[in-house]
Amino acid sequence: MNVKENLQVISSKINEACSKVKRNPEEITILAVTKYAEIDEAQRVAEAGVTHFGENRDDDFLKKREALNDDMTWHFIGTLQSRKVRNVINKVDYLHSLDRPSLAAEIEKRANKPVKCFVQVNVAEEESKHGLLVNDVIPFIKSLEKYEKIQVVGLMTMAPHTEDKELIRSVFKRLRLLQQEVKALHLAYAPCTDLSMGMSNDYPIAIEEGATFIRLGRSLIR
Ligand SMILES: *Cc1c(COP(=O)(O)O)cnc(C)c1O
Repeated sequence: MNVKENLQVISSKINEACSKVKRNPEEITILAVTKYAEIDEAQRVAEAGVTHFGENRDDDFLKKREALNDDMTWHFIGTLQSRKVRNVINKVDYLHSLDRPSLAAEIEKRANKPVKCFVQVNVAEEESKHGLLVNDVIPFIKSLEKYEKIQVVGLMTMAPHTEDKELIRSVFKRLRLLQQEVKALHLAYAPCTDLSMGMSNDYPIAIEEGATFIRLGRSLIR
């Protein structure tokens, strides 16, 4: 594994995607997804200069956070079971998987301060994936007004695993339109300015469609 070389490849692809659509590469944050990596590998990612880390299981999240700690920003990107909320929520900087009312209620109960959340959307309506259906997103976000510990910073999705680039693009495009709709509501607790979309096999498309956080595992750590 050579993280520095991987990062160079990734940053040139980010620049290329940005120049296609006239975006500033500084708008895009790379989140290192370390779920396949050992602790020493995650440490090498940190040494290469990455400061945002994401994990999708509570035990690994706590372990890696403990080992790296310092000035990192920590993202929880996986489905979060309500009974696990108390273990992690006060150690999470961003939660990418807010996807149901019961999870919101549990966060309200357990968090000591407002948590930056992405509402996860199952744009492609895949049975295997979590997330709200597109039409349920705005009613759900409106229902969060009563909570003080939830701040909706943006929307998150995972595109289908497919070679069909136009299908992938249409999913990202749909998420951006929805994000703009939510943003236009001007809800104080839901600025919804960010888009968490794009993984190793589709991040250039996600950037062309407006991603601000890309979640990279295999392309960064292998
Ligand atoms: C694993 C995972 C990623 C990273 O996947 P890669 O294809 O390895 O880049 C991104 N987002 C989520 C939610 C994941 O579970």
